[in-house]
Amino acid sequence: MEQLKRVYMRTFGCQMNELDSGKMLRLLEADGYVQTDSPELADVILLNTCSVREKPEQKLRSMMGRLRSLKEERDGLVLGVTGCYAQQESGALLRSFPYLDLVMGPDAIPRLPGLLLDVQLSRSRVLATEQLDRQNYPFTNDIVVRGEKGVTAFVTIQKGCDSFCSFCIVPFTRGREASRPAAEVLAEVRALAARGVAEVTVLGQNVNSYGLKKSAEPPFHELLGSIAAVPGIKRVRFTTSNPWDLDPGLVELFATEPRLCSYFHLPVQAGADSMLARMRRRHSREEYLTLVRDLRQARPDIALSTDIIVGFCGETEEEHQATLSLLAEVEYDFIYSFAYSVRPHTPAARSLADDVPAEVKKRRLHEVQHLQAEITQRKMVAFEGRRVPVLVEGPSRRDPSWLSGRISQNWIVNFPGDTALIGQLVEVGVERALSNSLLGHDPSPLGAKVSPRRRLEVLS
Ligand code: SF4
Repeated sequence: MEQLKRVYMRTFGCQMNELDSGKMLRLLEADGYVQTDSPELADVILLNTCSVREKPEQKLRSMMGRLRSLKEERDGLVLGVTGCYAQQESGALLRSFPYLDLVMGPDAIPRLPGLLLDVQLSRSRVLATEQLDRQNYPFTNDIVVRGEKGVTAFVTIQKGCDSFCSFCIVPFTRGREASRPAAEVLAEVRALAARGVAEVTVLGQNVNSYGLKKSAEPPFHELLGSIAAVPGIKRVRFTTSNPWDLDPGLVELFATEPRLCSYFHLPVQAGADSMLARMRRRHSREEYLTLVRDLRQARPDIALSTDIIVGFCGETEEEHQATLSLLAEVEYDFIYSFAYSVRPHTPAARSLADDVPAEVKKRRLHEVQHLQAEITQRKMVAFEGRRVPVLVEGPSRRDPSWLSGRISQNWIVNFPGDTALIGQLVEVGVERALSNSLLGHDPSPLGAKVSPRRRLEVLS
């Protein structure tokens, strides 16, 4: 019997990268590979990279240093770097790391098994970073599920971005916008539902732009409505959106479609109009705030999150204060915040000076995060004492004898309960808000009455 080949995969970066890693693993499983958690046991090591910030790049470089000795010890071990950083650096990565065998960008994912075979048979190094034409972009539909029993899954509907915000590398690493045909998306969602998937997260760099460049496809909110209507699908989420392509139909869907979760990640980046202009964002502060008001009117319990960059080129103290005041005004449930670092090839790298001193960036980032931590804590504490619907995903990571799931607003809840509940939508009492999750008790069928005595037993 032929021995199975083992692949070790390490993922850096966003949900899109996680999905790509899952797809690569599915393709390799179909080609006779099994996944291993240990690089020492692997025949193929793949590092799926991100280049949106500087930190994942640093992590990759230090990991490459650690893998060098393994590569020298193990004849036949194949080492590959994939993803956005591979796309960005391309041949320069092969020159920097003479022991690297494969450099592959996101568009080459469907070719991965063949590229590995090329490396193994010819013992030569392979570079695959060509970007594909958006008209015929081949979306891979290898189903990737997560959670015990595959309760939740990601579905790609769109890739790339045409917006060219001045700080952002995505249009260069992920290429131009391409929308996946709606028929193909819906077929994948039906197949997922048939396998027991109850929650789908729709992914794209910019889902609000779905179909805008392909008149044959419906607008994003119509596609989302059709996904929510697939029998068996209990919940739908999506990410990521830009504010300027958000159409009123999507706001309306929050008012009318209960299967659409009460969570919206709406990147703003900064609070001052002057800064938004330098970032080449296509929205003003006021336009953004109007969207927030519309969304909250359509779905009063909606949780909002955003991305914030501090210390972008030329940021004044006044502009920084405008970002803080925006955070206080919107009261996001959660934010992703970063100190600006120059990304190669971007408009900012070419024409703006990265002139905010490192210690100022650090202080401003701390102020942003400190303010948001207070708001987040207040928002989470507001769930204490309430009973909330939770889709049970599997055993808790904190304690595998407990269960874990998410509320509609995307917070994780850990609670004691029977594994028979996995995959079900139940109601859970929220006992306490921790820093990044909620502690729950007493799962019950949605709408059922819970006896106060039983509740006390669980708490004691
Ligand atoms: S819209 Fe988002 S992905 Fe596109 S360039 Fe701007 S920040 Fe980058």
